[in-house]
Formats: sequence, C-alpha cells, structure tokens
Amino acid sequence: MKPIWIEGVSLNENPTNILIENKHIAGIGLDVPMPAGAIRIAGKDKAVFPTFANMHTHAAMNLFRGYANDLPLMTWLNDWIWPKEKNLDDDTVYWGTRLACTEMIKSGTTAYSDMYFHIPAAAKAASELGIRSTLGINAFGDAEELTEKYIESILAMLEPLSELVSIAIAPHAVYTVSEKGLRRCAKLSRKYGLLYHIHMSETESEVVNCVKEHGCRPYELLERLGVMEMTEGHFSGAHSLYVDENEIAIIGRYRATVTHNPCSNLKLGSGHYFHYVELRDAGANVTLGTDGCSSSNNLDMIEAAKIMSYLQKGIRRDPTVLAAEELLDVATSNGFKTLGIDAGKIAVGKSADLMLVDLNNLAFVPNNNTLANLLYAAHGDAVDTVVCNGHILMQQRHISSEAETIAEARRATARLMR
Ligand SMILES: [Zn+2]
Repeated sequence: MKPIWIEGVSLNENPTNILIENKHIAGIGLDVPMPAGAIRIAGKDKAVFPTFANMHTHAAMNLFRGYANDLPLMTWLNDWIWPKEKNLDDDTVYWGTRLACTEMIKSGTTAYSDMYFHIPAAAKAASELGIRSTLGINAFGDAEELTEKYIESILAMLEPLSELVSIAIAPHAVYTVSEKGLRRCAKLSRKYGLLYHIHMSETESEVVNCVKEHGCRPYELLERLGVMEMTEGHFSGAHSLYVDENEIAIIGRYRATVTHNPCSNLKLGSGHYFHYVELRDAGANVTLGTDGCSSSNNLDMIEAAKIMSYLQKGIRRDPTVLAAEELLDVATSNGFKTLGIDAGKIAVGKSADLMLVDLNNLAFVPNNNTLANLLYAAHGDAVDTVVCNGHILMQQRHISSEAETIAEARRATARLMR
C-alpha cells in the first residue's frame, strides 16, 4: 500500500502537508516531506476535514428514493414500504447498497451503521466500494431466526471482509419485537460483542402503545428487561425523540449512543424536539444519521448536520447551542467511537478517514470561516476527495464504478417495484 502525501491543504485555516501511511495519519505539517513512491494529492484550494459516520441507515432503501412521500410513518410502512420489501432479494439489496455507498462517498461519509436484510449481499457491495459498514441483522417477533449458529455462520462468511465490514444485532423496535426477542438479541450482542442497533421512540404513539402494552416507556422497558445492562457500551438507539427525564437518565447511566435523524423525523412528521442538550449532559453519546433514503430522500450528512443544528437553535431559542465545532464532532468522531474506529479527527495516529472539500465551490466563496461554510453553506457535492482507511475512494468527484452502479440500480428498481 503506497503512502499518500497531501500537499499544501488548508487545515483549521492554515496550509499544511499531510502524510498517510499504513492506513493512519502519519504526519501533519509544512515540514512533512513527500516520501519516495508516495501518491501525491494537490491540496491547493482544498480544505481537509474528517469524514462523516452516518449512524442510522437502511442503505438498500436507496431504491425507494422518491417513492411514497408525504405520509405518516405507520401508513407509509404498512401500505407502501413493507409490501414492496417482499420483493427484496440479493440482487436488489446489492445494487441498492452500491447506490447508497456511492452517494455516501460522494458526500464525505466513510462509515455507516445499517439495519436491513440480505446481509452478505450488502457486505459485498459496501466492501467493493471500500467504505466501512456495520450491518445490522434485522429481527422481528421473538427473533428466533437469530441463533448462535446463524450469527457464527455470518461472522465466518464475512471474516475475509472484516477489516471494513462488521455486523450488528438489530431488533427492529419495541413495537415489532417481543420482550423475549429483545432479550434474545441483547444476549447475542453481549456474547459476540456486537452493536445492538434498534429504533427507539420515533413517534409519540409508539410510546403511548408501549405504556399500554408493557406498563412503562420504551427505555424503561429495555432497562427492566436487562437489555441496557447487557448491551452497555454496544447500545445504539436510533431516533430516541420521545424520551422523558427518567429515560434520559437511563440512557446516560449506560453511556448509550442515540442517533438523531432530523431530516427523516421532519419529513415523516414524527417530531422535531430532540433532547440534544439533556442527553449530552446526562452522558449519552449523541450521533447523527440520515435514516434510509425512502424517508430522508438523500444521504447527505452535511444537510442532516445543518438541520440538526438549526432545529436545536430554533426550539431552544438559543443560537449558541450546538456550535459548529461540536456539530462536527456529533457527525464524525462520536459516531466512529460507537463503531470502535479511532477516526473523526485530523490528528497524527488517527485512522486515515478524511476528505478534501473544494474551496472553489461557491459555498466557500468568500471563505471567512471554512468550518461554518462546510456545515451551514455547503452540500455534499463540495466534497472533492475521500480517503477511507488509507485508501483513496474518490478523487475530483470521480468513482470508477459510478456509471455501472447507476444503470444497474435503475434495473434493480424496476424489479423491486413490480
Ligand atoms: Zn430507520
């Protein structure tokens, strides 16, 4: 693997060289020379940032982009999405995932936490594009299909890809998985040290029904079942919009990860009041996601970050909340931390997951503040170059497999929608 040497790129408003060796950032500074045989990348008119970790997706749902809009969550799922998902197979998931990974790379994401079906097909697609994926195996009901034998067979199958691909246990939600299933998944998560990725409190009615059925709220239920304890350090609750004071304390006590998906929550009309400050102060690791393209319509983490920040400022009537530096951490290093990857900062020793943005993109003209321009003015198309785990995935916005992916994704969509 050849070293990569980035010459004269802007880092925190100052020009520098960056050396990448053995998958890590090995040197930063204008005095860092280009080693013999290194790949040289011109950093002129570019700024460097860590790449994003998209912490809640259903990647293959990219094939549903633009299908069934302006509907409430349960109608959208029951009447539109779930009937078509019956047509999913390895081919549709493979091309849907390839399409999603292409979009993620093109907008600066190098790691994502997924939840879907046909895991081997998704793993093949993600690893071919060189992006990091944590693929949640979706479970419903009593989750009886998730046996130790099954998990071990998937782990063995993915072993050759394991540098970039890992799996997670993903019970769908407390309203689709039984108490027995929720516990079963937690035991598997603990036994194999896998992330426990679940939809939590996305809508208010979900919480009302949980209280009716179980006599307590969703996070209280998981604590009562011993799930929070069994999954400590490996819990990732997507959405977590409708949490009360006691639930925020539970989330903080177990240092759990919660993922805000502002674009999806707003488009599905699920809600807007994410308790960012309270969760952060209680000790939760707050991360950012887009959710699947069927509800967020794109996978642009810059857009998701901007909307998250503006929502917090607006609902609290306080423009100082979630300032740009903190917002960047939520979208980058906080997510990588949950995934067990030492990335999300441009610093010597960190994993080489980084992107160069084009300072000639109009969002950076004039460039009074590069970080503010990235998060508040730019879109994903300002990303010019992406490096993941020390490999170049995109340069000058070019990914060699893109044309094939577009053509095949269109073909796979026709089969899915039949
Ligand atoms: Zn979701």
